[in-house]
Amino acid sequence: MIRFPFLKKSRFRGPLTRRGERIGIPRGMMFYHFFPLWSSFWENLGWQVEVSPFTTRETVEAGKGLTGTDLCLPVKAFLGHVLCLKDRVDALFLPRLISFEEGAYLCPKILGLNDIIRNLIPDLPPLLEPPVNYKGPPKVSLESSFLSLSETVGLPRGRLAEAFRQARVHWEKEQAGVYRTHGIPQKLIPEDLTQALDRVGPGTARFHLGIIGRPYLLFDPILSQQLLKRLTFRSCALTCIHGISAAERERQEEKLAKKVYWSLGRDLVASSLSFSQKKDIDGIISISSFACGQDAFTSYLVDHYARQHSDKPFLSLVLDEHTSPVGLQSRLEAFFDLLGRPH
Ligand code: SF4
Repeated sequence: MIRFPFLKKSRFRGPLTRRGERIGIPRGMMFYHFFPLWSSFWENLGWQVEVSPFTTRETVEAGKGLTGTDLCLPVKAFLGHVLCLKDRVDALFLPRLISFEEGAYLCPKILGLNDIIRNLIPDLPPLLEPPVNYKGPPKVSLESSFLSLSETVGLPRGRLAEAFRQARVHWEKEQAGVYRTHGIPQKLIPEDLTQALDRVGPGTARFHLGIIGRPYLLFDPILSQQLLKRLTFRSCALTCIHGISAAERERQEEKLAKKVYWSLGRDLVASSLSFSQKKDIDGIISISSFACGQDAFTSYLVDHYARQHSDKPFLSLVLDEHTSPVGLQSRLEAFFDLLGRPH
């Protein structure tokens, strides 16, 4: 059995949570990637899953009020989601995501997210925080991560293994669904946004845009300043980074002089290469968060590859909580002027 030095032994004296209780999952960060797996796992075992409501300006303000530092907008919003959930649930599920695929890490702010939460938010319910670390040491796969919860929830590992197996099947189906809906996780975004996206079909779209952005920024309407909805109002069909198949992204990655070291950063750069070569993509928009350490590197590569391989109109947006909706609208109008010109 894998032991984790930062989990003190005394925390294993009995289950931290029991079947039937409420497990809280904040709607932010890697939620957009892992939620179907996480929720299905807990529900298969008999827990109730409670997700924090969609982000509001108050959620962001609450998170921002805790930090006063230069943390990026998605992390500030995530803190707001934890605040919103913490008194409504029996435990919070916050896996320590270090590396979820071979050869790549997540951002240091995601690696340290649980410590940030512990330090900034008092009176937390028990945190269930199994690590996931494909790079190691020690190496911990997704499955081992879930199995390590056996003592914490007071259930045998065999029962957890079966719940994980079923959850993974469900997750894979959901991921295939996201690919089919052009990289947009329709079940995880507000209904009005899904309806707006559905209104632009192949016959009605004026332009087809490739959208490059981290899911937790792009699919949160408050953090992205309603970017996707603004684009559908202009009759644009959209394809986001996970609307490109994993095989195609890997093919594009092979062309890079040096592999990108971060999981989502890889997807952003590979998507830029792919969109720039697709004949049916009329223009490309890249969205990133101010104070994002990773995007200080990856935005340059995204921009470089988008411009090097095509003359498609390209717009790069850097957002934070101070971004003016009027300024954003002006940038979009200038971009649409370019799109309308022959190129
Ligand atoms: S990758 Fe950037 S936006 Fe994402 S958590 Fe890290 S610093 Fe924030």
